[in-house]
Amino acid sequence: MSTSRPLLDQFARRITYLRLSVTDRCDLRCGYCMPERMSFLPKAEVLSLEELHRMALGFIDRGITKIRLTGGEPLVRRDMIELVRALGRKLGDGLEELTLTTNATQLAAHADDIAAAGVRRINISLDTLDRDSFARLARRDLLPQVLEGIAAAQAAGLRVKLNTVALKGINEDEIPALVEWAHGKGMDLTLIEVMPLGEVEEDRFDHYLPLSEVRSKLEGDFTLTPSDHRTGGPARYFDVAETGGRLGLITPLTNNFCEGCNRIRVTATGQLYPCLGGGERVDLRAALRSADPEAALDAALDMAMRIKPERHHFRIDAPGGAPALARHMSTTGG
Ligand code: SAM
Ligand code: SF4
Repeated sequence: MSTSRPLLDQFARRITYLRLSVTDRCDLRCGYCMPERMSFLPKAEVLSLEELHRMALGFIDRGITKIRLTGGEPLVRRDMIELVRALGRKLGDGLEELTLTTNATQLAAHADDIAAAGVRRINISLDTLDRDSFARLARRDLLPQVLEGIAAAQAAGLRVKLNTVALKGINEDEIPALVEWAHGKGMDLTLIEVMPLGEVEEDRFDHYLPLSEVRSKLEGDFTLTPSDHRTGGPARYFDVAETGGRLGLITPLTNNFCEGCNRIRVTATGQLYPCLGGGERVDLRAALRSADPEAALDAALDMAMRIKPERHHFRIDAPGGAPALARHMSTTGG
Protein backbone atom coordinates (compact mmCIF):
# COMPACT_ATOMS: atom_id res chain seq x y z
CA MET A 1 0.00 0.00 0.00
CA SER A 2 1.36 3.45 -0.82
CA THR A 3 0.33 6.61 0.94
CA SER A 4 -0.70 9.87 -0.64
CA ARG A 5 0.73 11.74 2.35
CA PRO A 6 4.25 10.46 2.91
CA LEU A 7 6.32 11.75 5.80
CA LEU A 8 8.93 13.96 4.19
CA ASP A 9 11.15 16.19 6.30
CA GLN A 10 12.50 19.58 5.29
CA PHE A 11 15.71 17.98 3.99
CA ALA A 12 13.65 15.78 1.64
CA ARG A 13 14.32 12.66 3.67
CA ARG A 14 11.43 10.20 3.49
CA ILE A 15 10.60 8.76 6.90
CA THR A 16 9.51 5.14 6.70
CA TYR A 17 10.85 3.62 9.90
CA LEU A 18 9.36 3.97 13.36
CA ARG A 19 11.09 2.83 16.53
CA LEU A 20 8.40 2.54 19.15
CA SER A 21 9.29 2.19 22.81
CA VAL A 22 6.56 0.27 24.62
CA THR A 23 8.02 0.71 28.11
CA ASP A 24 11.03 2.44 29.65
CA ARG A 25 11.30 -0.28 32.31
CA CYS A 26 13.88 -3.03 32.21
CA ASP A 27 14.94 -6.13 34.12
CA LEU A 28 18.64 -5.36 33.54
CA ARG A 29 20.69 -2.31 34.51
CA CYS A 30 23.46 -2.11 31.91
CA GLY A 31 25.96 0.36 33.36
CA TYR A 32 26.21 2.51 30.20
CA CYS A 33 22.41 2.66 29.80
CA MET A 34 20.89 3.40 33.19
CA PRO A 35 21.73 3.81 36.87
CA GLU A 36 20.84 1.11 39.40
CA ARG A 37 18.17 3.35 40.90
CA MET A 38 16.58 4.44 37.69
CA SER A 39 13.47 6.57 38.00
CA PHE A 40 10.94 5.20 35.56
CA LEU A 41 8.00 7.00 34.00
CA PRO A 42 4.82 6.80 36.08
CA LYS A 43 2.76 3.88 34.71
CA ALA A 44 -0.31 6.12 34.35
CA GLU A 45 1.54 8.21 31.78
CA VAL A 46 2.42 5.28 29.57
CA LEU A 47 0.22 4.73 26.51
CA SER A 48 -2.27 1.89 26.73
CA LEU A 49 -2.11 -1.04 24.35
CA GLU A 50 -5.07 0.39 22.47
CA GLU A 51 -3.39 3.81 22.16
CA LEU A 52 -0.13 2.27 20.95
CA HIS A 53 -2.04 0.28 18.38
CA ARG A 54 -4.08 3.24 17.13
CA MET A 55 -0.99 5.39 16.93
CA ALA A 56 0.91 2.74 14.97
CA LEU A 57 -1.98 2.49 12.51
CA GLY A 58 -1.82 6.28 12.05
CA PHE A 59 1.88 5.99 11.24
CA ILE A 60 1.31 3.17 8.75
CA ASP A 61 -1.31 5.33 7.10
CA ARG A 62 1.38 8.00 6.58
CA GLY A 63 3.82 5.63 4.92
CA ILE A 64 5.69 4.02 7.79
CA THR A 65 6.57 0.57 6.46
CA LYS A 66 8.84 -0.72 9.22
CA ILE A 67 8.18 -0.74 12.95
CA ARG A 68 10.69 -1.80 15.57
CA LEU A 69 9.30 -2.35 19.09
CA THR A 70 11.85 -1.51 21.72
CA GLY A 71 12.24 -0.01 25.18
CA GLY A 72 13.47 -0.30 27.99
CA GLU A 73 12.93 -3.99 27.64
CA PRO A 74 9.84 -4.55 25.49
CA LEU A 75 9.21 -8.05 26.84
CA VAL A 76 8.74 -6.83 30.42
CA ARG A 77 5.49 -5.20 29.29
CA ARG A 78 2.71 -7.70 29.98
CA ASP A 79 0.52 -7.02 26.96
CA MET A 80 3.48 -6.87 24.58
CA ILE A 81 2.60 -10.06 22.71
CA GLU A 82 -0.93 -8.74 22.11
CA LEU A 83 0.59 -5.65 20.48
CA VAL A 84 2.92 -7.81 18.37
CA ARG A 85 -0.08 -9.86 17.22
CA ALA A 86 -2.19 -6.78 16.46
CA LEU A 87 0.59 -5.13 14.42
CA GLY A 88 1.46 -8.45 12.79
CA ARG A 89 -1.99 -8.34 11.20
CA LYS A 90 -0.90 -5.21 9.27
CA LEU A 91 2.00 -7.06 7.61
CA GLY A 92 1.38 -7.05 3.88
CA ASP A 93 -1.25 -4.35 4.39
CA GLY A 94 0.93 -1.24 4.61
CA LEU A 95 3.49 -2.66 6.99
CA GLU A 96 6.45 -4.44 5.41
CA GLU A 97 8.39 -5.36 8.50
CA LEU A 98 7.68 -5.73 12.19
CA THR A 99 10.62 -6.39 14.44
CA LEU A 100 11.92 -5.87 17.94
CA THR A 101 15.04 -5.23 19.97
CA THR A 102 15.33 -7.19 23.18
CA ASN A 103 17.83 -8.19 25.83
CA ALA A 104 16.42 -11.75 25.45
CA THR A 105 16.10 -12.47 29.18
CA GLN A 106 12.44 -13.41 28.65
CA LEU A 107 12.59 -14.40 25.03
CA ALA A 108 12.52 -18.16 25.60
CA ALA A 109 8.88 -17.88 26.72
CA HIS A 110 7.79 -15.66 23.82
CA ALA A 111 9.85 -16.59 20.76
CA ASP A 112 7.22 -18.91 19.26
CA ASP A 113 4.42 -16.33 19.65
CA ILE A 114 6.59 -13.61 18.15
CA ALA A 115 7.42 -15.75 15.12
CA ALA A 116 3.78 -16.80 14.74
CA ALA A 117 2.75 -13.12 14.62
CA GLY A 118 4.84 -12.63 11.47
CA VAL A 119 8.10 -11.28 12.88
CA ARG A 120 10.99 -12.62 10.80
CA ARG A 121 14.10 -11.08 12.38
CA ILE A 122 14.96 -9.59 15.72
CA ASN A 123 17.89 -7.78 17.29
CA ILE A 124 19.30 -9.05 20.54
CA SER A 125 21.73 -7.08 22.67
CA LEU A 126 24.63 -9.04 24.07
CA ASP A 127 27.85 -7.42 25.25
CA THR A 128 29.69 -10.43 26.69
CA LEU A 129 29.60 -14.22 26.86
CA ASP A 130 31.30 -14.30 30.22
CA ARG A 131 28.83 -14.82 33.04
CA ASP A 132 30.71 -12.77 35.66
CA SER A 133 31.36 -9.97 33.25
CA PHE A 134 27.67 -9.97 32.23
CA ALA A 135 26.56 -9.88 35.85
CA ARG A 136 28.83 -6.91 36.51
CA LEU A 137 27.91 -5.02 33.36
CA ALA A 138 24.14 -5.65 33.45
CA ARG A 139 24.08 -5.74 37.27
CA ARG A 140 21.93 -8.91 37.05
CA ASP A 141 23.19 -12.48 36.75
CA LEU A 142 20.99 -13.43 33.79
CA LEU A 143 23.37 -14.56 31.03
CA PRO A 144 22.02 -18.17 31.05
CA GLN A 145 18.48 -16.87 30.43
CA VAL A 146 19.74 -14.66 27.58
CA LEU A 147 21.50 -17.60 25.92
CA GLU A 148 18.33 -19.66 26.30
CA GLY A 149 16.37 -16.81 24.71
CA ILE A 150 18.75 -16.67 21.74
CA ALA A 151 18.50 -20.42 21.22
CA ALA A 152 14.68 -20.28 21.44
CA ALA A 153 14.53 -17.48 18.88
CA GLN A 154 16.64 -19.44 16.43
CA ALA A 155 14.60 -22.60 17.06
CA ALA A 156 11.44 -20.59 16.31
CA GLY A 157 12.92 -19.64 12.93
CA LEU A 158 13.66 -15.99 13.78
CA ARG A 159 16.76 -14.49 12.18
CA VAL A 160 18.84 -13.01 14.97
CA LYS A 161 21.27 -10.10 14.77
CA LEU A 162 23.37 -9.37 17.82
CA ASN A 163 24.16 -5.83 18.93
CA THR A 164 27.22 -5.33 21.08
CA VAL A 165 28.31 -2.06 22.67
CA ALA A 166 32.12 -1.91 22.44
CA LEU A 167 33.45 -0.95 25.87
CA LYS A 168 37.05 -0.14 26.71
CA GLY A 169 38.35 -2.28 29.57
CA ILE A 170 35.12 -4.31 29.69
CA ASN A 171 34.57 -6.37 26.54
CA GLU A 172 37.21 -5.05 24.14
CA ASP A 173 39.37 -8.16 24.39
CA GLU A 174 36.35 -10.41 23.88
CA ILE A 175 35.14 -8.85 20.64
CA PRO A 176 36.90 -11.32 18.26
CA ALA A 177 35.49 -14.25 20.26
CA LEU A 178 32.00 -12.71 20.18
CA VAL A 179 32.22 -12.28 16.41
CA GLU A 180 33.30 -15.89 15.98
CA TRP A 181 30.60 -17.19 18.32
CA ALA A 182 27.82 -15.22 16.62
CA HIS A 183 28.91 -16.06 13.09
CA GLY A 184 29.35 -19.70 14.06
CA LYS A 185 25.68 -19.75 15.01
CA GLY A 186 24.56 -18.00 11.85
CA MET A 187 23.99 -14.58 13.46
CA ASP A 188 25.31 -11.26 12.18
CA LEU A 189 26.85 -9.01 14.81
CA THR A 190 26.91 -5.23 14.93
CA LEU A 191 29.21 -3.23 17.16
CA ILE A 192 28.03 0.10 18.59
CA GLU A 193 29.92 2.97 20.17
CA VAL A 194 28.67 4.08 23.55
CA MET A 195 26.58 7.27 23.32
CA PRO A 196 26.21 10.04 25.90
CA LEU A 197 22.49 9.67 26.66
CA GLY A 198 21.16 10.16 30.19
CA GLU A 199 22.92 10.20 33.56
CA VAL A 200 24.52 6.96 34.71
CA GLU A 201 26.80 6.31 37.67
CA GLU A 202 29.93 6.01 35.60
CA ASP A 203 31.71 8.38 33.25
CA ARG A 204 31.05 6.83 29.86
CA PHE A 205 34.18 8.42 28.46
CA ASP A 206 36.15 5.94 30.61
CA HIS A 207 34.70 3.12 28.51
CA TYR A 208 34.38 4.87 25.19
CA LEU A 209 36.06 2.76 22.55
CA PRO A 210 36.18 4.21 19.02
CA LEU A 211 35.25 1.56 16.50
CA SER A 212 38.03 2.75 14.22
CA GLU A 213 40.36 1.29 16.87
CA VAL A 214 38.33 -1.92 17.17
CA ARG A 215 38.33 -2.35 13.41
CA SER A 216 42.10 -2.02 13.16
CA LYS A 217 42.54 -4.65 15.88
CA LEU A 218 39.98 -6.99 14.29
CA GLU A 219 41.88 -6.74 11.03
CA GLY A 220 44.71 -8.57 12.82
CA ASP A 221 42.40 -11.57 13.32
CA PHE A 222 40.07 -11.38 10.35
CA THR A 223 39.91 -10.28 6.72
CA LEU A 224 37.22 -7.61 6.57
CA THR A 225 35.84 -6.64 3.17
CA PRO A 226 33.42 -3.69 2.95
CA SER A 227 30.00 -4.99 1.95
CA ASP A 228 27.17 -3.39 -0.03
CA HIS A 229 24.68 -4.77 2.45
CA ARG A 230 22.37 -2.06 3.85
CA THR A 231 19.44 -2.33 6.20
CA GLY A 232 18.35 1.29 5.87
CA GLY A 233 20.09 1.94 9.18
CA PRO A 234 23.29 3.63 10.24
CA ALA A 235 25.45 0.49 10.23
CA ARG A 236 28.21 -0.07 7.69
CA TYR A 237 28.86 -3.73 7.00
CA PHE A 238 31.88 -5.89 6.37
CA ASP A 239 32.09 -9.50 5.21
CA VAL A 240 34.38 -11.56 7.40
CA ALA A 241 36.25 -14.05 5.22
CA GLU A 242 37.27 -16.44 8.02
CA THR A 243 33.75 -16.88 9.46
CA GLY A 244 31.55 -16.29 6.42
CA GLY A 245 29.50 -13.88 8.57
CA ARG A 246 28.75 -10.18 8.48
CA LEU A 247 30.00 -7.53 10.87
CA GLY A 248 28.25 -4.17 11.25
CA LEU A 249 29.78 -1.02 12.71
CA ILE A 250 27.67 1.86 14.05
CA THR A 251 29.77 4.91 14.76
CA PRO A 252 27.56 7.78 15.89
CA LEU A 253 30.50 9.68 17.37
CA THR A 254 33.34 9.13 14.96
CA ASN A 255 31.27 9.24 11.80
CA ASN A 256 28.03 11.09 11.27
CA PHE A 257 25.28 8.99 9.72
CA CYS A 258 22.48 11.52 9.53
CA GLU A 259 22.26 12.12 5.79
CA GLY A 260 20.25 9.05 4.97
CA CYS A 261 18.17 9.10 8.15
CA ASN A 262 14.75 7.51 7.55
CA ARG A 263 13.57 7.10 11.13
CA ILE A 264 11.74 8.63 14.03
CA ARG A 265 11.27 7.48 17.59
CA VAL A 266 8.30 7.49 19.95
CA THR A 267 8.54 6.95 23.70
CA ALA A 268 6.14 4.83 25.75
CA THR A 269 4.33 8.02 26.77
CA GLY A 270 3.79 9.03 23.15
CA GLN A 271 6.52 11.64 22.81
CA LEU A 272 7.85 11.69 19.27
CA TYR A 273 11.55 12.49 18.99
CA PRO A 274 12.47 13.11 15.36
CA CYS A 275 16.17 12.73 16.25
CA LEU A 276 17.83 10.44 18.81
CA GLY A 277 20.49 13.07 19.33
CA GLY A 278 18.27 16.15 19.62
CA GLY A 279 15.78 17.63 22.08
CA GLU A 280 13.03 18.32 19.51
CA ARG A 281 9.76 16.66 20.51
CA VAL A 282 6.09 16.42 19.58
CA ASP A 283 3.42 15.18 22.02
CA LEU A 284 1.40 12.45 20.31
CA ARG A 285 -0.38 11.41 23.49
CA ALA A 286 -2.11 14.78 23.64
CA ALA A 287 -3.09 14.29 20.00
CA LEU A 288 -4.39 10.78 20.66
CA ARG A 289 -6.47 12.00 23.60
CA SER A 290 -7.89 15.05 21.81
CA ALA A 291 -11.42 15.44 20.44
CA ASP A 292 -10.37 14.53 16.89
CA PRO A 293 -7.44 12.13 17.35
CA GLU A 294 -6.98 11.29 13.69
CA ALA A 295 -6.64 14.90 12.55
CA ALA A 296 -4.54 15.81 15.59
CA LEU A 297 -2.16 12.89 15.00
CA ASP A 298 -1.77 13.87 11.36
CA ALA A 299 -1.00 17.48 12.31
CA ALA A 300 1.48 16.31 14.95
CA LEU A 301 3.30 14.17 12.38
CA ASP A 302 3.49 17.12 9.99
CA MET A 303 4.98 19.20 12.80
CA ALA A 304 7.56 16.46 13.49
CA MET A 305 8.63 16.61 9.84
CA ARG A 306 9.13 20.37 10.12
CA ILE A 307 11.36 20.14 13.20
CA LYS A 308 13.46 17.06 12.42
CA PRO A 309 17.03 18.41 12.57
CA GLU A 310 19.56 17.87 9.84
CA ARG A 311 22.02 16.07 12.10
CA HIS A 312 22.90 15.22 15.68
CA HIS A 313 25.81 16.70 17.60
CA PHE A 314 26.90 14.06 20.10
CA ARG A 315 30.09 14.55 22.06
CA ILE A 316 31.24 11.92 24.50
CA ASP A 317 33.87 14.13 26.10
CA ALA A 318 31.64 16.99 27.27
CA PRO A 319 33.07 18.99 30.18
CA GLY A 320 32.49 17.21 33.50
CA GLY A 321 31.42 14.02 31.73
CA ALA A 322 27.88 15.42 31.45
CA PRO A 323 25.58 13.54 29.09
CA ALA A 324 24.88 15.25 25.77
CA LEU A 325 21.19 14.68 26.44
CA ALA A 326 19.38 14.15 29.73
CA ARG A 327 17.22 11.45 28.14
CA HIS A 328 18.29 7.81 28.51
CA MET A 329 18.42 5.47 25.53
CA SER A 330 15.88 3.33 27.40
CA THR A 331 13.37 6.21 27.16
CA THR A 332 13.64 6.85 23.45
CA GLY A 333 14.35 3.25 22.54
CA GLY A 334 17.62 2.01 21.11
N1 SAM B 1 16.43 -3.56 26.35
C1 SAM B 1 16.57 -3.83 24.97
C2 SAM B 1 17.98 -4.21 24.62
O1 SAM B 1 18.88 -4.00 25.45
O2 SAM B 1 18.15 -4.72 23.52
C3 SAM B 1 16.11 -2.71 24.05
C4 SAM B 1 16.43 -1.29 24.44
S1 SAM B 1 18.14 -0.88 24.59
C5 SAM B 1 18.04 0.81 25.08
C6 SAM B 1 18.61 -0.86 22.87
C7 SAM B 1 20.08 -0.83 22.58
O3 SAM B 1 20.61 0.38 23.05
C8 SAM B 1 20.89 -1.94 23.22
O4 SAM B 1 21.60 -2.62 22.22
C9 SAM B 1 21.83 -1.20 24.14
O5 SAM B 1 23.07 -1.86 24.23
C10 SAM B 1 21.92 0.14 23.49
N2 SAM B 1 22.29 1.24 24.40
C11 SAM B 1 21.72 1.62 25.57
N3 SAM B 1 22.33 2.72 26.07
C12 SAM B 1 23.30 3.06 25.20
C13 SAM B 1 24.27 4.10 25.14
N4 SAM B 1 24.34 5.02 26.08
N5 SAM B 1 25.11 4.11 24.08
C14 SAM B 1 25.03 3.17 23.09
N6 SAM B 1 24.14 2.17 23.09
C15 SAM B 1 23.29 2.10 24.12
FE1 SF4 C 1 17.86 -2.60 29.76
FE2 SF4 C 1 18.49 -2.60 27.18
FE3 SF4 C 1 19.22 -0.56 28.80
FE4 SF4 C 1 20.39 -2.90 29.14
S1 SF4 C 1 20.49 -1.62 27.32
S2 SF4 C 1 19.54 -1.61 30.78
S3 SF4 C 1 18.78 -4.30 28.64
S4 SF4 C 1 17.18 -1.11 28.25
